[in-house]
Amino acid sequence: MGILPVKIGDVVVLRKPHACGANRWRVVRLGADVGLVCLHCGRRVLLARDEFERRLRQLLPEEGRDDEAGRA
Ligand SMILES: [Zn+2]
Repeated sequence: MGILPVKIGDVVVLRKPHACGANRWRVVRLGADVGLVCLHCGRRVLLARDEFERRLRQLLPEEGRDDEAGRA
């Protein structure tokens, strides 16, 4: 099982968009579960680590990030 180079505060793109239509999330918790906050609607979700890895499509580079307000 690979270790993803994901850190708290990283922005990730998932394979399926959120119900609100966006699919960019900020990582807010890492562990056995991964906490994500939707950058568009602010909804927070918790995914099991293996499910997160299956859903992950892209880890956005530093310069590609939006610096959204509303950061918890
Ligand atoms: Zn959303």
